[in-house]
Amino acid sequence: MSLFQQPIRVRMAPSPTGFLHIGGARTALFNYLFAKHYKGTFVLRIEDTDKERSTKGYEKAIIEDLGWLGVEWDEGPLKEGSYGPYYQSQRIPTYQKYLKKLEALSKVYPCYCTAEELETERQDLLKRHKTPRYLGKCRNLTQQERKALEAQGRVPVIRFKIDETEPIQFHDLIRGDISVDPTILGDFVISKGDGWPLYNFAAVVDDCEMKISHVIRGEEHISNTPRQILLAKTLGLTLPQYAHVSIILAPDRSKLSKRHGATSVGEYRKMGFLPQALKNYLALLGWNPGDEREMMGEEELAKDFVIERMVKSPAIFDVEKLKWMNGMYIRNSSVEAMTKETLPFLESYGLEIQNKKMPWLNSIIETVRGSVDTLDQIGPAAELFFDEKFSLNAEAKTYLVQNKDKAKEILKTLDDLLAKTPLLEKEEFQKLQAELKEKVDASDKKILFQVQRVAVTGRLKGPEMNMIMPILGVDSCRKRIHITQSALS
Ligand code: GLU
Repeated sequence: MSLFQQPIRVRMAPSPTGFLHIGGARTALFNYLFAKHYKGTFVLRIEDTDKERSTKGYEKAIIEDLGWLGVEWDEGPLKEGSYGPYYQSQRIPTYQKYLKKLEALSKVYPCYCTAEELETERQDLLKRHKTPRYLGKCRNLTQQERKALEAQGRVPVIRFKIDETEPIQFHDLIRGDISVDPTILGDFVISKGDGWPLYNFAAVVDDCEMKISHVIRGEEHISNTPRQILLAKTLGLTLPQYAHVSIILAPDRSKLSKRHGATSVGEYRKMGFLPQALKNYLALLGWNPGDEREMMGEEELAKDFVIERMVKSPAIFDVEKLKWMNGMYIRNSSVEAMTKETLPFLESYGLEIQNKKMPWLNSIIETVRGSVDTLDQIGPAAELFFDEKFSLNAEAKTYLVQNKDKAKEILKTLDDLLAKTPLLEKEEFQKLQAELKEKVDASDKKILFQVQRVAVTGRLKGPEMNMIMPILGVDSCRKRIHITQSALS
C-alpha cells in the first residue's frame, strides 16, 4: 500500500486520565511533524469514555501543554472540523450504531462474569503457563440463563467474539510485517453495560470515521492493533496504516518512571525548559535526520521528518542531554525572547521586576544566560543585580576582613570616582578603572578587582565586572559600596 493513497490524516488521542507525559508529547509531536511533512491534517481527539478516571482538569492540562509545546492541531477541541465532535464522550450514538451492527452480525454477546471470576480464570491460566485471556464462559448462554443472571443484579459488559484461527497480519511502517495468533486474544470487552465503549472499539470506530490514514502511536499499543483490525474488518471499515514508535526508556534501560525524575511536560515547563528545546529533543527520541544534526528547529524537523527515519529500537530519555540542548536554546535565541520567557521565573524567585525597564532586564539576561541550562536557574544567577537582594556572603566577608586596609582604600577611592561619574556605560567603566589604578597602589591587580567585585556583588565569583557595573549603574554601585564599607568599619 502506498503511503500517499489517501489524504494524509493523523491523530493524537489522549485519555484525560493523567497529565501529558513525555511519551504522549512525543507521539503528538511525531503526528504533528508527519502531518506537516506530508501536508496532511493533524487531529486531536479526546478519548474520555472512562468516566471514572477522566477529568476536565487533566483534559485542560493536556490541551494547555500541547499548546505550550507548540504542537498545534488542525481539527479537535477548540478547532472544529468536518469529523467532529472530537470528544468521544460526545460520540456515544456513533458507537451504539456500530454496536448494533455487530449485534446484527452475532459478533458480540453479553458477559456477566465478575471481576473475581475473571481473576480466578487469569490466575489459573498463568499457573498452567498459558496466555491469560477470556475463555468464553458467557459466549453460549441461553436467553433464560442471561435473564437469571440479570435477576441476580449482574450488569453485563459486551464482548466481541473472536472466531478467527488464521493469523492476523498487518504491515507496520516502522516494524515491518507483523503476524498475531488470534487464539491468544480471547473475546474482549468492547462496551460497558451502560452502552459506553471501551478503548479498542471507540478508537477503531473513530479512526475510520475520522478518515485517519496513519495511526502513529507508542509501541505499547501494538497489542491492541490486532483487536482493532478484527473489529474494523468485521464492520467493513477501511483500515489506517499503522506505525508503532519505539518505547522510551530511562538511561538505565528500565521503563521511564517517576523515580527517574520528572516525566510530565508540565513539570519540564515549570523547571524552565523551553518548548522549542523540548520539541527538538523529543523529535530525536525514535527518529533521526540520518546525519549528525541535533539542533533542529521546527521547520527543519518537519522538512526532514520522513517515516523511513523512524526507528524501532528503544529511545533513551537522557535529561542531561535535554538540559544541554535547552541551554543551547537559551543562549542562541534572541535576548528579548528569553527575557520574556524568564520574567515569570524571576518573579517566582522573588525578584522585584514590576518597575524595571526591559532594556535593563535584557542586559541582565544577556550577561547570565551563558551559565544556565534552564530558566529557573536564571533567578539565582540574576539576583546579584537586584539591590534588595544585596548582602555579603560569608566568603566575601572573610576576604574583605583579610584585606581590610587595602579594601578600605580601594572602596573610598572608587566611591569618590563614582560620585563624579554621571553615567556608567562600558566606556566610562574602563576610564574609571584606569583612574582607580592611578590613585591607589595597583601592584596587586587581583586585589583591586576582587575588592570591587565583592563590594558590588557581595560574592567572590560571577560575571565580568565590566558587564556588572554598567548594568547596576552609579547609584546602585555606590549604595552597595556604602553597605560594604560599614561592614568593614
Ligand atoms: N487513548 C489512548 C491512550 O491515551 C490512545 C491510544 C492510541 O493512540 O490509539 O493511550
